[in-house]
Amino acid sequence: MREDIEKVIVSTEQIDEIVQRLGRQLHQEYQGKNPIFICILKGAVIFMTDLIRAYDDLSEIEFMDVSSYGDALESSGEVRIIKDLDVPVNGRNVVIVEDIIDTGRTLAALIKLLQTRGAASIKICSLLSKEAHRLINVHVDYIGVGVPDEFLVGYGLDYKNQYRNLPFIGVLKPEIYE
Ligand code: 5GP
Repeated sequence: MREDIEKVIVSTEQIDEIVQRLGRQLHQEYQGKNPIFICILKGAVIFMTDLIRAYDDLSEIEFMDVSSYGDALESSGEVRIIKDLDVPVNGRNVVIVEDIIDTGRTLAALIKLLQTRGAASIKICSLLSKEAHRLINVHVDYIGVGVPDEFLVGYGLDYKNQYRNLPFIGVLKPEIYE
């Protein structure tokens, strides 16, 4: 598996520092507020499990699997729900936990959906951000690190459902795609 990686973009040590920093920042803002962390499947699972331990206070975790649809150039604000939340979010402080924000379409649609469900507050925490590729301007409250516009795998991110369990984030060798 590791031999398929051409270069490492975010090392295990960097990931650990980022997660600890984000956990502390979230703790400062949400301590005592019992937030709901919503993990967006499947890519954010590994990040989420480390993040909530770094957060280190009472909180709930929920999972959602969504995909946005509509033309890339229009913000339809719609999201197809593959797996929905198990609890209502009205009146709750919600933190959406994402692995990577690319075009921003998924997130924009998801924020709209949670707003219509009456969440008291909605903030976004994403491990990675590909700013160069953004099509929809969504405000990300907590960002781990900006990454180049390359296809990344590892620490939750997959290629054909593989490589999620790499302990770092990297780029695959071109021959893997061939
Ligand atoms: P967006 O709606 O922001 O374009 O898409 C975000 C989703 O696209 C992420 O949650 C992730 O599933 C997928 N994605 C975007 N960039 C990458 C990448 O470099 N590698 C992988 N494995 N998935 C990506």
